[in-house]
Amino acid sequence: MSAAPPARVVVVGGGITGLTAAYSLTPAGRALADPAQRDGAAPPGPPHPAVEVLVLESDDRLGGKIRTTDFAGHPVDEGADSFITRTPAAIELCRRLDIGPLVSPAQNGAFVVRTRRRTRLLRMPAGLVLGVPTSLRSMAALAGSGIVSARGVGRAALDLVRRDDWPGTEETVGEMVSRRLGSEMSQSLVGPLLGAVNAGDVDELEAVSAVPQLGEAARRGGSLMLALRRRPTAGTTVWPAGAFADWATARPAGSADASEPVFAGLRDGLGALPDALAARLRSAGSGAEIRTGV
Ligand SMILES: Cc1cc2nc3c(=O)[nH]c(=O)nc-3n(C[C@H](O)[C@H](O)[C@H](O)COP(=O)(O)OP(=O)(O)OC[C@H]3O[C@@H](n4cnc5c(N)ncnc54)[C@H](O)[C@@H]3O)c2cc1C
Repeated sequence: MSAAPPARVVVVGGGITGLTAAYSLTPAGRALADPAQRDGAAPPGPPHPAVEVLVLESDDRLGGKIRTTDFAGHPVDEGADSFITRTPAAIELCRRLDIGPLVSPAQNGAFVVRTRRRTRLLRMPAGLVLGVPTSLRSMAALAGSGIVSARGVGRAALDLVRRDDWPGTEETVGEMVSRRLGSEMSQSLVGPLLGAVNAGDVDELEAVSAVPQLGEAARRGGSLMLALRRRPTAGTTVWPAGAFADWATARPAGSADASEPVFAGLRDGLGALPDALAARLRSAGSGAEIRTGV
């Protein structure tokens, strides 16, 4: 009796969804698609019928909304930069593809582009919350960062001693930050940061709506720095490379240890994920083919 001809599947779109779907149809990817096998709860079942997979991508590149580019020597995720750790699928996929190390996004650090005189990428010091220093140490680090001048940081420090000067009417993010921390802090750091996060102009965004943490602190009166100091800053754990596999497999599906970061990214950028999937799909024996620019 001759073997049944392979099933033929066409996947339209080479973003992370299409590439993962295609990979799940290959011999190497099938175990991942079967939760029982994935968790080691069931032995491998009977062999699946052969499948030929064709991925059709209209763009010249794969990855869709996930794209990592090099900027001033650093990998920068232009789209998605992290995934939620509480859902184990993405972490499991990284483990199966043997890519890592995983990092909490905060560990990669945040940078500010400074275009005065020449374009420079300046690392944002630790201890800032929404760009606002919350300790003397973070103030000193900010003064040495090149992002804000020592004079600008000195002006911001007045926030600690100025009396409550809330005007009593709603103000914009820009007005609030300038009032409490000075115009340099507003223009060089907090404004661009909050404007980017909210995809808006800080001189038009209402403080209490756009950044409730700051807006409410300003309304309560007193120091923004002290008000924000009460809020915990994001964790900066990098899981040791050796512990990564153990951590991902030992953990029951869906469980979340409170000490784990909520988000995980890849040190070299999330673009490594579609790249690795594409490499597996293109490898001999996968039964898959990828066509771009179609
Ligand atoms: C700026 C930004 C930041 C984000 N940050 C995060 C984040 O931190 N964490 C997170 O989890 N998510 C984030 N997301 C969302 C996440 O990136 C997307 O949900 C995810 O990448 C979508 O993947 P996809 O494969 O479903 O779609 P897409 O990435 O859109 O891929 C679809 C692909 O299909 C192709 N295509 C479309 N039509 C056709 C056609 N007719 N024929 C052939 N090809 C076609 C497209 O060219 C594209 O390559 C972010 C999104 C953006 C834009």
